[in-house]
Amino acid sequence: MFLEQEDRHLSAEELYMLVKHQNPEIGLATVYRTLDILAEIGVLIKNDFGDGRTRYEFSRKDEHHHHHHLICLGCGNVSEFDDDLLESLEAVITKRNQFKVMDHDLKFYGYCRKCEEAR
Ligand SMILES: [Zn+2]
Ligand SMILES: [Zn+2]
Ligand SMILES: [Zn+2]
Repeated sequence: MFLEQEDRHLSAEELYMLVKHQNPEIGLATVYRTLDILAEIGVLIKNDFGDGRTRYEFSRKDEHHHHHHLICLGCGNVSEFDDDLLESLEAVITKRNQFKVMDHDLKFYGYCRKCEEAR
């Protein structure tokens, strides 16, 4: 239903507006329920970027490592980055704490180029 939005991080409300365009009879509750099911089976990933709204994105099976997010404090824009140096940190944590790290989650808050220029 929102496959063409593949590379974006949309809230349920934003997705609802998109879906409603093509299916005016659909309700917000249906959208919430559908998103929950898709998240449960792993098609979607839920993100919380600290603005009080859950945002959804498609999980990409070809990603060997889930990407991370850069969140703009000015305009709320979310962009992505792939590379981090955490593999070596994970190895250190595993060794020092005898804790086998399987995954990590990372968010950076700051200002995008446009907002930084306007400041
Ligand atoms: Zn910005
Ligand atoms: Zn993302
Ligand atoms: Zn990472």
